[in-house]
Amino acid sequence: MRHLHRPSGRADLASLEERLGLLLLVRLGLVLAILLASGLASTEIGLTFGQAALPSAAFVAVTAAAELIGRSGRRAALATHRTMIPLDAVYLVLMTVPTGGPRSQLIILFYLHLVAATLLGSARSALRLALWDTFLFILVPTLGLASRIGELLGVADVAAPLATDTAVAIMGFWAIALCTAGFSMVSERELRRNRNELESLAVMTSALEATTDADVARKTLLAHTTGGLGFKRGVLVVTAGTSLVATRAARGEAAPVTEVPTPSRKAPRPDSAVGQAQREHRVLAMARLVPEADPVASALLPNARNVVVASIGSGEEAPVLILEHGGRVMGERLARRTMLMVGQFASHGMLTLAGIAALADQERLAAVDGLTGLANRRQFDSALAREVAVACRRREPLTLAIVDIDHFKEVNDTAGHVAGDEVLRSLGVVLRDATREMDLVARYGGEEFALVLPSCDAQAALGVLERVDRSMRSSGVLRGITVSSGVATLFDHAGDGSGLIVAADRALYASKRSGRNRATVATPASPLTAGSGVATG
Ligand code: GH3
Ligand code: MG
Ligand code: MG
Repeated sequence: MRHLHRPSGRADLASLEERLGLLLLVRLGLVLAILLASGLASTEIGLTFGQAALPSAAFVAVTAAAELIGRSGRRAALATHRTMIPLDAVYLVLMTVPTGGPRSQLIILFYLHLVAATLLGSARSALRLALWDTFLFILVPTLGLASRIGELLGVADVAAPLATDTAVAIMGFWAIALCTAGFSMVSERELRRNRNELESLAVMTSALEATTDADVARKTLLAHTTGGLGFKRGVLVVTAGTSLVATRAARGEAAPVTEVPTPSRKAPRPDSAVGQAQREHRVLAMARLVPEADPVASALLPNARNVVVASIGSGEEAPVLILEHGGRVMGERLARRTMLMVGQFASHGMLTLAGIAALADQERLAAVDGLTGLANRRQFDSALAREVAVACRRREPLTLAIVDIDHFKEVNDTAGHVAGDEVLRSLGVVLRDATREMDLVARYGGEEFALVLPSCDAQAALGVLERVDRSMRSSGVLRGITVSSGVATLFDHAGDGSGLIVAADRALYASKRSGRNRATVATPASPLTAGSGVATG
């Protein structure tokens, strides 16, 4: 079974460049906020612009250097990103400690930093950062760093933070980190699921494009819809032929499909899910299938819960997809979204199957004579070439008989062309009935027919033509009509297909010349003159 493409890692919803670019903006925003606060409200926060400027400039310089290093490649970008996040926190600690530590008005910048790092990084990086912030907030009072940082920045009388204030700030970090990580995980899962479903659809579409076989297309549709959308089980009920059953694979993979006989060909009840989906050509969702209304679907998917039913096309003959989601009863929102996706998969399947059917129709029409429904000249040519090759390989006889209606022009002239057409159609039926399944009966030209008779010698062919003659006499439409035939056998009268046609044609001409209403077998020496006329009339 084909595996659906699944990109690894979490980082592919937005590109790494994009996320690192946004983090850089956040970083510069933090610096700007601190500089603005120290410039405009230095008394309120307890830090002047001059005191904030130097460490901020140093931090911006480090950021710029990291940015330059990060541009050399993906690994370097990731490494500098991992280094810069804890450095951001160190810079924020340097700025908040002299402005009140956990009570600083700048503490909100820690929260913003945590949120940004979580949304642009991952849930794990949120927890790591919260741990690092906690460590720094405990380190400062433990090592008595508050006054030293104050001295470093030129801020007098920086007191060590109170343990309760530190505890409250730390609890704040963890509350923010856990909430943001939780929310981002939920929305990320949703986004990832949407993207995976669209990818599964794309994979299925290309798999469908690659086939011109309806059976393969049906299997592909079922396997990819079941696997790609994470269904537990799926069936494709086919009215004529065998149904398909798929069982869950790992999510995103094409589910393995097996063929099973359709349990009953009874038409579904009008209130059945299958009947309704076929009639209205839409996707339905239900908690359970009703076995009385949908015996076939229920037999194929016993005890199914949370079922989605979609018809592939409309009408009683349309195949129907029945998919079991399983689990607890679906929420409205999930049901609607799932139905929408199933509808998309079903539409693609339907278009492919319709295309394949149209192609098959076209091929059939291109090989069939419109009036008689027999093989046309084109099919005759390829069948003769094929049978000659088989006969040569097996060294078996192959006989060609060309049958031409006698004085057919007169039939048209006296009874009209419509009656003439009826004669051609009836003779077609007679020829078909007189031959075996393996023989090919073709309309060779206007009122000429050709019989390709494998494993059959000239004598047996004459027997067939006698049967034809008898049937014609007992047919109402063909009464009074006679035919002339020419018979040629491979190896006896010719060595290849075109030789056979020439020999049979000459034998036919001999039949016409010697009085019509007869069959003539070609002769190898001089088929034109030495035809052994056998009167069949
Ligand atoms: P012969 O015994 O020598 O074969 O005489 P014929 O009249 O059968 O042969 P000819 O070739 O003179 O005429 C064939 C006729 O078959 C002429 C043509 O109008 C008629 N014909 C060919 N195709 C069709 C067809 O599709 N429908 C009808 N009604 N007539 C056709
Ligand atoms: Mg003719
Ligand atoms: Mg004729």
